[in-house]
Amino acid sequence: MSFTITEPSTVTDAVRLIAADDETRIVAGGTGLTLLLRYGLLAPTRLVSLRNLPSLAGVAGTGDGGLRIGAATTLSALEHSDDVAARAPALRQALRRLGNVRVRNVAQLGGAVAHGHPQMDLPPVLVAGEARIEVTGPAGTRQIPAGELFLGYYDTAIGDDELVTAVHLPPHHGVYRKVTLRTAEDWPALGVAVTTDPGDSRDGPPATAGVRIAVGAIGDRPFRLTDLEDALADTPPTPAGIAEAVTTAVADLEIHDGVDASAEYRRHLVAVHVRRALQTVLLDGADPDHGDPDHGEPDHGEPDDSDVAGPDVAGPDGGPR
Ligand SMILES: Cc1cc2nc3c(=O)[nH]c(=O)nc-3n(C[C@H](O)[C@H](O)[C@H](O)COP(=O)(O)OP(=O)(O)OC[C@H]3O[C@@H](n4cnc5c(N)ncnc54)[C@H](O)[C@@H]3O)c2cc1C
Repeated sequence: MSFTITEPSTVTDAVRLIAADDETRIVAGGTGLTLLLRYGLLAPTRLVSLRNLPSLAGVAGTGDGGLRIGAATTLSALEHSDDVAARAPALRQALRRLGNVRVRNVAQLGGAVAHGHPQMDLPPVLVAGEARIEVTGPAGTRQIPAGELFLGYYDTAIGDDELVTAVHLPPHHGVYRKVTLRTAEDWPALGVAVTTDPGDSRDGPPATAGVRIAVGAIGDRPFRLTDLEDALADTPPTPAGIAEAVTTAVADLEIHDGVDASAEYRRHLVAVHVRRALQTVLLDGADPDHGDPDHGEPDHGEPDDSDVAGPDVAGPDGGPR
C-alpha cells in the first residue's frame, strides 16, 4: 500500500485533484477508508485530505427552521451542537449511539454519507428527514435527495469526481431507534427513523398523515416504508390503529436472512421498533431528550429475544458481515 496525501486549501483544488484520475480518493476522518485500505478493497495512489478546508465544517440554522451542515463537521461536533439538538432530534439520537466516541471525534458527516455501508446509523435518518446532499464537482454544485443517494453496498449516487460539501436538513420532529445484537457500540442490526413536519404537532400530537418512516441495515440500502406511510394517512392515531397498520405493512416487506439474524427475526425487530418509534412521534410527542426511547442506553431488541445474537465476527471491512 503506497500513496501520497495532498491537503488542498480550496474546494476547487480538491475537486480538481479528485477529478484528475481514478486512483485518487478523498479521506475525511479515515475511520471507514482505513479499513478498506487495510483489507485491500481499495488501492488509491493519492489521498486528498479535507483537513485544510475549515470552510467545509460547521452547522448553521436556516431561515425555515432547518440546518445546513458542512460535510467536514465531525460527528462529535454535531452530537454536541445546540442547533442539532433543537432542530434535528432524530439525528442527535443517531449520533449518540453511533460507534464510540473515538470514531465520532474524527469521522465527518461527509464520510458518513459517502461511505455507503448498508449498516450505518445516519442514512435512514437522512432519508426519513428528506435531507438533500450537496455535492460539488467539475460541473458545479448539485443537490441529491437522500432517498436517491444510497444505491447499494458501498455504492452511492455521488460521482467519483464529486465532493460532498454539505447536508441540508429540513425542519422536522422525529426519533431514531437503533438495535444492536452484540454490544452497545456495535453497528446497527436495524435502524428506524420516523419524522414528521414540525407544523403537524403545533396544536397537539402530530397527524398520522405526512409521517415518514425509513429503515436501515436490513437491506443493501436504507428505504422508506411507503406502504405503511400511506396506510397511516387513513389510520386513527391510537396505539391499536398504529399497531395494526404496522403489522400489516411489515408482513408484506421483503426481508432476507442475514448472517446476524434470520429474516423472521429481522421482521420481528422491524415490527417492534417501527411501532415504538411511531408511538413516540405520534402519541408521546418526539422531543430530543424526553422523547428519546432509549435515553441514550443501548437497545438490543426485545428482552425475550436477547439470546438471539449473531456470531462475534467482523466483515472484511471491519463492519458486520
Ligand atoms: C470501530 C468502528 C465502529 C463503527 N461503528 C459504527 C456505527 O455504529 N454506526 C455507523 O453508522 N457507523 C459506524 N462506523 C462507521 C463510521 O460511521 C464511518 O467509518 C464514518 O462515518 C466514515 O467517516 P470518515 O470521516 O471517517 O470517512 P472516511 O473513512 O475518511 O471516508 C469514508 C468514505 O467516504 C469518502 N468520503 C469521505 N468524505 C467525503 C466527502 N466529503 N465527499 C465525498 N466522499 C467522501 C471516502 O473517500 C471514503 O470512500 C464505525 C467505524 C469504526 C471504525
